Amino acid sequence: MRPIDKPVLDARTVFDTCTATARPKTVRTKLQALKDTVAAAAAEYDTAATARALHTLGHLKDLPDGEPKKKGGLNKELKNTYSSRMVHKKSAGRDFYDQLLKEAPDDRCALCGQGIADTLDHQLPKAHYPLLAVAPANLVPACRDCNYYKGEEAPLNAEQQTLHPYYDGEIHDHTWLVARVSGPPKPAVVFAAVPPPEMPSLLAARVRHHFTILKLARLYNPQAGPELRNLSRSLPRLSAKAVLEHLRERAEDWAVSEGVNSWQAALYRALANSPWYTGGGYKEPWK
Ligand SMILES: [Zn+2]
Repeated sequence: MRPIDKPVLDARTVFDTCTATARPKTVRTKLQALKDTVAAAAAEYDTAATARALHTLGHLKDLPDGEPKKKGGLNKELKNTYSSRMVHKKSAGRDFYDQLLKEAPDDRCALCGQGIADTLDHQLPKAHYPLLAVAPANLVPACRDCNYYKGEEAPLNAEQQTLHPYYDGEIHDHTWLVARVSGPPKPAVVFAAVPPPEMPSLLAARVRHHFTILKLARLYNPQAGPELRNLSRSLPRLSAKAVLEHLRERAEDWAVSEGVNSWQAALYRALANSPWYTGGGYKEPWK
């Protein structure tokens, strides 16, 4: 997860702008009458997210209709407010969409740090929380894979909350992404979320949930191949002692530039800590 500063956009202003030109007029009138309700839901969301308790917002589920698929109800119009009045290229709220998307670090997904951020993910899904469909703090720049894997699942308890880029930056105070190097005959790398014992238990559980639900091992494991192939060419030019030093320096550099829980930092930490790899395994051509 890549932390991003919480958006400064005001939830009420965004909702007001998106719905001010909604058609037909009967729908517009009904949506505009929800401004206070939407603003209050966004304020509750902010309080709950700060307290890492988004699972406690169950009372906002399926509002204002009270059921997911009420015919002719407002839930559908609120969901449409996102797709038709914010995402659509010529819609009234498109500037807000672009503004949120451009905060993606290096244009990459804030949830996995790797995929291209070409969509916004609803941290609490709009299918269950229509009142939060265009709430800026609920919209996170993400790749299509993360958006798909996260799906419409809403947290039922504190541990099931995926990491939130706007609220959970302190997870990187701890090193929890590890790479496991195996060999011989050839080096192979598998990534895993292994929170350290000193990490608060709730954060540790959320890190594991985030890693599992977004299938991050599937995403990170293949990244190691090109690095190992490249190292099998460059490291043999160094002395045995310099190999270990080089790997440690790279681990530190990646930790500083991309974070201690980037796959790059995890990979180089693991390589530097592998007696087999530093003892000559690096000479093995990888695949
Ligand atoms: Zn992603």
